[in-house]
Amino acid sequence: MSLVQIKTQNPTQQPVTGPEYWRSLDQLADTPEFRQWVQREFPEDASVVLDGNSRRSMLKIMAASFGLAGLAACSRPEVRLAPQARGRYDYIPGAPYNYTSVFSLGDHASGVIVQTNEGRPSKIEGNPDHPASMGAATALAQASLLGVYDPDRSKTVLDGGKESSWEKFEAAVKGLSLGDGSGLRFLSGTVVSPTLESLRADALKKWPKAKWVEYESLSRENERNGAVLAFGQAVDVHPQFDKAKVILSLDYDFLGTDYPTPLATKLFSKNRHVDSEADLEKISRLYVVESQFSLTGANAEHRLRMQGGDVQKFAVDLAAALSAPPAGGDKRTKFIAALAKDLKAAGKEALVVAGPRQPAIVHALAHQINQTLGAGTVTYTKASTTDRVDSGVDAIKTLTGEMTGGQVATLIILGGNPAYTAPADLQFGAALAKVANSIHLGAYDDETAAAAKWHLPEAHYLETWGDARSIDGVVAIQQPMIEPIFGGKSAIEVMAVLLDSKDRKGYDLVKNYWASQWPATSKDNVSRDNAWKKALNDGVLAGTKAAEIKPTVDGKRLHPSPAVVANGIEVGFVPSATTWDGRFANNAWMQEAPDPITKLVWTNVALISPAMGREKGWKDGDMVALTRGNLKLEAAVMVQPGHADNAVTIALGYGRPRAGTVGANVGYNAGLIRTSDNFWFSQGFAIAATGDKAILANTQEHGSMEEPQLVASIKPRYRPLVRETTIEEYKKNSKAIEEMSEVPELDSVYPQLKWEGLQWGMAIDLGACTGCNACVVACQAENNVPSVGKDQVLRGREMHWLRMDRYYVGSVDDPRAVEQPIPCMQCENAPCENVCPVQATTHSPEGLNDMAYNRCVGTRYCANNCPFKVRHFNFLDWHKNFLERRRIEPELMSMVYNPDVTVRMRGIMEKCTYCVQRIQEARIATKTDNRREFTGEGVVTACQQTCPADAIAFGNINDPRSKVAQLKKQERNYAMLAELDVRPRTTYLGRLRNPNPELEAS
Ligand code: SF4
Repeated sequence: MSLVQIKTQNPTQQPVTGPEYWRSLDQLADTPEFRQWVQREFPEDASVVLDGNSRRSMLKIMAASFGLAGLAACSRPEVRLAPQARGRYDYIPGAPYNYTSVFSLGDHASGVIVQTNEGRPSKIEGNPDHPASMGAATALAQASLLGVYDPDRSKTVLDGGKESSWEKFEAAVKGLSLGDGSGLRFLSGTVVSPTLESLRADALKKWPKAKWVEYESLSRENERNGAVLAFGQAVDVHPQFDKAKVILSLDYDFLGTDYPTPLATKLFSKNRHVDSEADLEKISRLYVVESQFSLTGANAEHRLRMQGGDVQKFAVDLAAALSAPPAGGDKRTKFIAALAKDLKAAGKEALVVAGPRQPAIVHALAHQINQTLGAGTVTYTKASTTDRVDSGVDAIKTLTGEMTGGQVATLIILGGNPAYTAPADLQFGAALAKVANSIHLGAYDDETAAAAKWHLPEAHYLETWGDARSIDGVVAIQQPMIEPIFGGKSAIEVMAVLLDSKDRKGYDLVKNYWASQWPATSKDNVSRDNAWKKALNDGVLAGTKAAEIKPTVDGKRLHPSPAVVANGIEVGFVPSATTWDGRFANNAWMQEAPDPITKLVWTNVALISPAMGREKGWKDGDMVALTRGNLKLEAAVMVQPGHADNAVTIALGYGRPRAGTVGANVGYNAGLIRTSDNFWFSQGFAIAATGDKAILANTQEHGSMEEPQLVASIKPRYRPLVRETTIEEYKKNSKAIEEMSEVPELDSVYPQLKWEGLQWGMAIDLGACTGCNACVVACQAENNVPSVGKDQVLRGREMHWLRMDRYYVGSVDDPRAVEQPIPCMQCENAPCENVCPVQATTHSPEGLNDMAYNRCVGTRYCANNCPFKVRHFNFLDWHKNFLERRRIEPELMSMVYNPDVTVRMRGIMEKCTYCVQRIQEARIATKTDNRREFTGEGVVTACQQTCPADAIAFGNINDPRSKVAQLKKQERNYAMLAELDVRPRTTYLGRLRNPNPELEAS
């Protein structure tokens, strides 16, 4: 029965008021394309057979997304091997083993726990004992696993592009006459490894005239410079988002790409969980000013769009408004006045933070405002300043000048891809070609490898020993899970070669470094060896946290520059949520994870405001040329609701010619117009259509569900799929969420089961969920979900078992956004089960909507009957095609699969199982432990485990002690499409917002 029929049968019910939520501009216009996504379970051409080209490109994705790797490499690293022939008391063949390690990304490091199966890493999760992950992992950390098995990784040492060997490289190094290091330069990313730091110190001692340059394309350079400006010393800043009642983000996407560990989301979401009435008082209020519509902006109570260059003036005006409230009726002035009042009222619970795109002065102003407010929401630690290390954009500019000027005889690049990531005006690739001895250690034969004399394959972080320091100083040991599959080495191992060290293996280098840091017998009489073992076990090194300091801002040092005069179009550069700075470009899991806001896959775009789209008459996919001087970039545009006017935002990390089979030439290289003097945003661009059109794969309408507001005749009645209300409304009426939909008295024609005993269910708190996508990638990794490629996504064939629906609410120019994760709802009255002619999908006694894959004959009736559109049909032999690829390279095999989950073949339906393999694992553990009853305690789904916001609860809904049962009792708990009487086991907790009444009313 459709919703329209239900509505017609209940004409007396009162209209339910509430905001209207929309997914896309096409939905607002009710275009035929949008209607198709709503009315069909698959788009019209979904069943079309592939032509040769599509098939070939799909095969490429398959090969890389499932991973092809050498069978011989499927072993633990040498130092940890234990011959199975002798047996091991603690080793059970087939059982997974977990090890701690650490994932580093730019300036950030977060602890992980890696599951291995028979010596191969198969899943990454957050380490609960590590302060930067607190048990969660980001989408990028989850997806980093796929990189281990990427067949495109470098496999051999190259000398002038020709195959060479490590031995020949070592011989060549011995032949270098480095003297006092006058012509010697090192280039690395931010060094977060204490062992590498010590080797660096050794190198600079051995070659006193050498220089070491650190460069990250996405770095905290402005933050560090801002701290020096404000405090007169290098200081690391640690916002305590959980202690703040009122937060202002100055262009800081701390819930998204600007903070690549789970920590900020963990802290921020603490105040978004409501378990009691008292918790209503602690919900924080978030204000965001920004140009692009970021994930943080999507979670804000109030958001003011402006060009990136205007944020400095905003910060100055806000600082002034704290003492003299501004008068004026325009939106900006009202915003500043209300914000200043709110921050002052919050006092020590106020927090102002600035993002990495903003110049040092904005960071310094944020520190000054926090100090003025007496904010106790930021802690500071003394930053480690490393002597004789040049870092940042100016440093690489100087280095490139020296390279071009012939002052660099030997350049050693330790990781990274500066020929792609360095500012365009530096022409780093051309300068590199002028260096006589250039050595590049990199994971891929990429843009930098092509210009360097020597290219050395770099080992993946799960293949080699190392260590990494998180921003609060805590160090974790990077344990490898597997021998380097392609024979790569790490940066510390290459440094050991260069220094001709006694220790050459990563294990010896790291262990001996730490042994040298510990006294033979530590305070509590634990030997060095035990300290090492404890560090490996815990995933953190005790006693490494940096000590807090209390610096004060010297206001006399702050001299904001005059406001930028708007001149042409401003172009802003942001990290990509999927490829980061390009290092994940060849990762099919990330390429196919929809951008949290745009919902695009397999590309980046030039994002423009709806006003610019209207003015220019541009639609999504229209190609434009962005030009300034001799800089030029052609890219497809996309109209982004909520984007600042006269501004364009483009994500970095795309358009790489040498990314690998998956990522080569995907998207547009924003780096072509990013220069050293306009590194984050740049005014004065001209924009013009080229007349060409690109096809964009956008998933924002996929899975659109039928709801009454889509039907013109009953437009005023809204039964929102995603629900939210304000704290004030909720206090007045605790049934506000429930009453957003009228559920008629419904009686099923089927006899109702008594759901007794162990019954599984899930509750997702929309108030806590930030929409970060980590759960989507975790689900993909856990459940062997294939990536299918752009062409297949365009046909609606993406396979994600868990999708993120993003809704807008409000005007097209300035909406808010709400995110909603959608797994299978495991309905009690499952409409999919009734229509399956072969009973391939049936209900388990514990309430799971099971799929028997080998029964399924692929009629797709179930998908047709699923109101939530969470069933995915294997139109193609995703896995068989992978096996075909194996025949081409017979020595390779897939190692990334989770062996506990069936690998599905063509012609069957698949969907979320509530991670039934984890349930079974826990059940078996109960038996083997001789415990009497399996209560369901301790079962954690993959999405739940990784969620940095702790937004997902799962367990036995009949156990009143379980979190999920308690959440489901809350009055803001609701079932989506409850009016269909399908009785979903997955329910949602309505989002509670905390808007400022002064701004909400205006
Ligand atoms: S539910 Fe998913 S999208 Fe939402 S915060 Fe958790 S991991 Fe991120």
